[in-house]
Amino acid sequence: MARYTGPACKLCRREGMKLYLKGERCLSDKCAYTRRPYPPGQHGHGRIKLSEYALRLREKQKVRRVYGVLEVQFHGCYGRASRSKGRTGEQMLGLLERRLDNLVFRMGFAASRADARQLVRHGHVLVNGRRVNIPTFVAKVGDKVSLREQARKLGRVAAASACAEKRPTLSWIEVSKEEFTGTLKGLPVREELNEPEINEQLVVEYYSR
Ligand code: SF4
Repeated sequence: MARYTGPACKLCRREGMKLYLKGERCLSDKCAYTRRPYPPGQHGHGRIKLSEYALRLREKQKVRRVYGVLEVQFHGCYGRASRSKGRTGEQMLGLLERRLDNLVFRMGFAASRADARQLVRHGHVLVNGRRVNIPTFVAKVGDKVSLREQARKLGRVAAASACAEKRPTLSWIEVSKEEFTGTLKGLPVREELNEPEINEQLVVEYYSR
């Protein structure tokens, strides 16, 4: 499936905040947003007053970029969320959080979601003991995610684990670092998803306009 392959830091600068797309680098002073906290391009320094529409569009783009999802898939995810019971915005975040690439990142086996996606695509990830190489796979409560034997020795996995120590732990994910496994204990808790800050209601308003 297609994915965005352009410069990641440009996206943070466009959205006006750190989206943490590059792992360790995002936490260092090499972060492009820390050094140039204004939109990219010739007119990046200009003052921009966002319209109501632009505000909602930017929020939608931001969420899409955080999770590394292209428009068609993202719209599909929104559609699925809107058909399920409960608040659409929260349901949508729940679906995005339960994607396999996101879970591998949240469990600390990858430094970023892009890195996690590659691990999945390269067949390094097992779900309930079976290899799953589909990053968009949505896990169910109780599913056990683990890394294959070969992947556990990768330097990037060790580096990711060190990087993950700096991130807050999530109550709905249980991780065993020694065994390179993680279990989805429950549904994602909205209150714990605040880095970066997201206003999912604006995304709902964008699509229901
Ligand atoms: Fe680049 Fe990460 Fe900084 Fe974003 S947060 S600008 S991806 S280094």
